[in-house]
Amino acid sequence: MAKIGKFALYNNQVIPTQEANLSITSSAVLYGLSIYSVFYTKRLEDGSFLVFRLADHIKRLQESSKMLGLGDVSQLLDEQFLAKISALLEANSPTNDQLFRVTIHASDPLPGIKTSNLTLDLSVFMYDADPILPPNGARLKTSSYRRVSDTAIPARAKVNGAYVNSALAREEALDAGADDALFLNQQGFVSELSAANIFIVKNDTLITPDCSSDILEGITRRSLITLAKDQGLEVIERKIALTEIYTADEAFACGTSSFVSPIIELDNRQIANGAIGTITTKLKDSLQAIFADPNSDWTTSL
Ligand code: PMP
Repeated sequence: MAKIGKFALYNNQVIPTQEANLSITSSAVLYGLSIYSVFYTKRLEDGSFLVFRLADHIKRLQESSKMLGLGDVSQLLDEQFLAKISALLEANSPTNDQLFRVTIHASDPLPGIKTSNLTLDLSVFMYDADPILPPNGARLKTSSYRRVSDTAIPARAKVNGAYVNSALAREEALDAGADDALFLNQQGFVSELSAANIFIVKNDTLITPDCSSDILEGITRRSLITLAKDQGLEVIERKIALTEIYTADEAFACGTSSFVSPIIELDNRQIANGAIGTITTKLKDSLQAIFADPNSDWTTSL
């Protein structure tokens, strides 16, 4: 299990993580009514940290709130937010790369089932950035659970409660000896993994499910599309059939907690020759270089 920092941020205060608790009477606990995002920070050799695409994580939280009708979260994520993150980092003084989980919880006691006019609390805790998929190649199993549809709980909103869907699918995959699940959506097209997006390579073209395939619109996914296009690769966002993955030249998963993770097997079928593909490796290396680049538009110093 990843090591969690001893201190957490709760609203405006840095407090011991063990004391940052929510009431059992809150909608967050009762209905999973919280929204979240996880961002990555890279520790540089001089001991300083770089955050990757913080503004995009803040924007996604704002959009998740808007989709659910939770209201304005800008006071929780104002200009002071970066300073609060720095204070939290200083309190924990980690010696390796970190993930920061930022959650906005509906915290009123027993307000009934609704999403508006609720008190919102902010929490941030940090933990070691251990990848959630094996970096040397993941084995996936297509889930018998379908990805929660945009018409049920929008997958593009990062809502805690919706992760029951991910937990069911991942458990089924783990029980079958795989590393993670591959979700299809209600229409039977490929959607994503339990907590990562998917790309395949076919004839030197990068293909990924489009934004109407019930995916979370991942920040890593968007970054890789930009990087691939900058490198002259053709990128297509479209519906993908399951059997296209069986016959792909390369396949990989991506996300803040999975980085770029090669997929070498799906449903007991080896992808290509089971080796890590050259385009996968190139994109992974390009992204890692940006994580450590203080001059990139995508990084912010802490
Ligand atoms: N899909 C799901 C369901 C996720 O939970 C995640 C992780 N946040 C992703 C995709 C990848 O998104 P990101 O690159 O923004 O971390």
